[in-house]
Amino acid sequence: MARNIGAACRRCRRENLKLFLKGDRCYSDKCSFERRAFGPGQHGQARFRKLSDYAVQLREKQKVKSLYGMLEGQFRLTFAKAERQKGVTGENLLILLERRLDNAVFRAGFASSRTQARQLVRHKHILVNGRKVNIPSFMVSENDVISLKEKSRANAIINENLEAVARRGVPSWLEMDKDNYKASVKALPNREEITMPIQEQLIVELYSK
Ligand code: SF4
Repeated sequence: MARNIGAACRRCRRENLKLFLKGDRCYSDKCSFERRAFGPGQHGQARFRKLSDYAVQLREKQKVKSLYGMLEGQFRLTFAKAERQKGVTGENLLILLERRLDNAVFRAGFASSRTQARQLVRHKHILVNGRKVNIPSFMVSENDVISLKEKSRANAIINENLEAVARRGVPSWLEMDKDNYKASVKALPNREEITMPIQEQLIVELYSK
């Protein structure tokens, strides 16, 4: 399966925002963004020129794509799905992204990053309603129960992640039962709980050109 293998920290520096792509490292003083808070590359420290409207829209889309670890094709398909839904397209897009299984596994605390969550899903550690699901883009729905396979419950990394989740918190649309390695989807995600600074309208404008 195709995935973005570019340097994660470089993407944060490019977007001038901590995207928390590397789990524990992002919370430590090893974070590249904290140590080098300027753009990547030879001219990274140069003052940026004023960006055109198109460039601003493009950067916003690239930022959200990096945040959710998606490639252009997958992202476009998700956008097309958001457009077909009733309501505000930008919000629909963010909610669809939040509903991805890899994101839900990360948000529940089983993984320290979305990349790690994707790997847990691909390696069949995750069950949805008691059945193995190894598709990171699987959309979770209200009342779904995401759990960890019995054999994976002794995994030290997953247990450490569950302990460390308090520092970022579990969103209210997920109800975590840590003792039983389960997270229930109480409701669909809502826009207010996506706290990263995202202007989704800019993505809609970009794709509407
Ligand atoms: Fe971004 Fe994390 Fe790298 Fe810091 S450590 S620059 S937050 S990916």
